[in-house]
This record gives sequence, C-alpha cells and structure tokens, in this order.
Amino acid sequence: MQRSMQPSERRAIRVDGRPSRAERHARKVERLAHALHERRGPRPLRLRKRAVSHQVPNPRDAKHTDDAIDISAFDEILAIDPVARTCVAEPGVTFVDLVAATLRHGLVPAIVPELKTITIGGAVAGCSIESMSWRYGGFHDTCLEYEVVTARGEVIVARPDGERALLFQMMHGTFGTLGVLVKLTFRLVPARPFVALRYETHAGLDEYLEAIERHIEAEDAEFLDGFVYGMIAGLINDPVTCLSGHRYLLVFSSCA
Ligand SMILES: Cc1cc2nc3c(=O)[nH]c(=O)nc-3n(C[C@H](O)[C@H](O)[C@H](O)COP(=O)(O)OP(=O)(O)OC[C@H]3O[C@@H](n4cnc5c(N)ncnc54)[C@H](O)[C@@H]3O)c2cc1C
Repeated sequence: MQRSMQPSERRAIRVDGRPSRAERHARKVERLAHALHERRGPRPLRLRKRAVSHQVPNPRDAKHTDDAIDISAFDEILAIDPVARTCVAEPGVTFVDLVAATLRHGLVPAIVPELKTITIGGAVAGCSIESMSWRYGGFHDTCLEYEVVTARGEVIVARPDGERALLFQMMHGTFGTLGVLVKLTFRLVPARPFVALRYETHAGLDEYLEAIERHIEAEDAEFLDGFVYGMIAGLINDPVTCLSGHRYLLVFSSCA
C-alpha cells in the first residue's frame, strides 16, 4: 500500500524547490512501504542499516542468509523542539550524532546509552538503558510516538494512547518482528556543562543494594551507575560466600 503525502508534509516543501526533511522522509517511507507491499514469498527479511549492529555476532545466525531490506537512508534528525523538549528522528540516527545535535539546544535525550553508535531504532527494537534509567526507564519509555511500516507495507502511527496503543507498547524488544520503525518522537531533558562524580565503595552485596535503594529514594543523584567486581562463575554457584570476599564499587554521579 503506498502512502500518499499528507497536506502538512506538502506544505513542508521548501520555496527554493529542494525537498524539506519532512518531504524527504515521506518519500523514503513511500519507497519502503512500496517495496514491502510488493514483496512476495515466505523468506524472512532482515534490516540493512548504515550504522554497525550491536548484536553479538554469530556466524551461523540465519540473518546472514536472509533477504535484506535497505533502511540505511533513514538516518536524519527531522526536528528538535527546544520549547516542548522533544525530538523527531529517523531510526538510523546514532546517539553520538543525536546528542551533538540536541546539545546545541542545551538538551539531551533522557536516556543516552554508553555506546555511541547505538541507533535510536535499535534502542527501541532491542533494548537500551543507562545511568538515568532509574528515573526514566529505558529509551523506549521516553518515546511519545512511533511511525511503523508493517511487513505488508502499511504505514501506522502509534502513540501511548488511542487505537494503536498496544502496538506502541509492544514495539520495545520486538527486534523488528512487528514492523520497521521509520520515525520516532521522544523526550529531551536539559543538559548541564559539568557532571560531578561521587564514588562509594561497599564491601558486600546487601550494603551495595541498600545504597542503590537509598539513593533512589532520596533522589540525590542525577545518574546512577554501579560496578561489581567479583568472580562471576562463583556468583552463579554460591552467591553468599563468593561475594563476601570481594569489594563492590558503586559510582553515583550528580549534576553540578
Ligand atoms: C558491546 C555492546 C555494548 C552495549 N552497550 C550498551 C549500553 O551502553 N547501553 C545499553 O542500553 N545497551 C547497550 N548494548 C545493547 C544495545 O543497546 C542493544 O543491543 C541495541 O538493540 C543495539 O541497537 P543497534 O542500533 O546497534 O541495533 P542493531 O544491533 O542493528 O539491531 C538490534 C535489533 O533491532 C532491530 N532493529 C534495528 N533497527 C530497527 C528498526 N528501524 N525497526 C525495527 N527493528 C529494528 C534489528 O533488526 C535487531 O533485531 C550494548 C550491546 C553491545 C553488543
């Protein structure tokens, strides 16, 4: 099914004759929807992105022999609204590029994964959490709207409420099985120029977990990160005795 351009998108064509971002996006969606609609046969399909994938490489993974659909063109930031503190972007935008763009407005996404080349589409279709997650959840929890192209080439806009609320809630962690995310709208939060780091070290797991609870309760840190140094194999067999001999470092950082 081909998607016709909305009146608001037509207005977005620039007076100099060059297509606006919205118009470019509409054309990309139209091409993808058409390709999926015309596709025949039962073979699985994987997504070919521009950015590197962060799934653990497995040479025997069937995805290496699956057909591929190219979504590499979907890598533009479409709009940043510094007043509403929202951003609209295509799924292939990496967090490193996203943060560079939002920082110009003194803003950052509420969740910024540590690895720079994770894309916003992968963050929703896979998973992404980071040190602000204790407050905001995963990156998907900061999303307000998804535009999705289904395997049949249908273009669907899903929001947390309304007719497509279930699709909106289910997109997270679906690894592309419900459709291709082609546009995301998500929240931004104010950024500050410096971060003050505070380290806490705990000698046992109970203390460590209590400290996390305490800081969450007190809301006295903006970012919360923790490291556990110990014998992972031992952890599985006998958590109590193995943990008791090791030290745990908890890093709490707060905005200055
Ligand atoms: C070394 C490493 C470090 C990591 N560090 C962090 C971290 O700091 N914080 C964190 O939270 N997570 C981290 N992760 C996990 C990572 O966030 C997830 O694996 C995430 O899904 C990767 O996103 P990606 O952009 O690389 O997508 P990919 O790996 O390319 O894709 C992930 C899945 O999403 C699907 N997908 C991608 N784009 C779309 C789309 N547009 N529409 C529908 N489906 C799509 C793909 O088909 C695939 O199934 C890390 C993973 C690794 C391997």
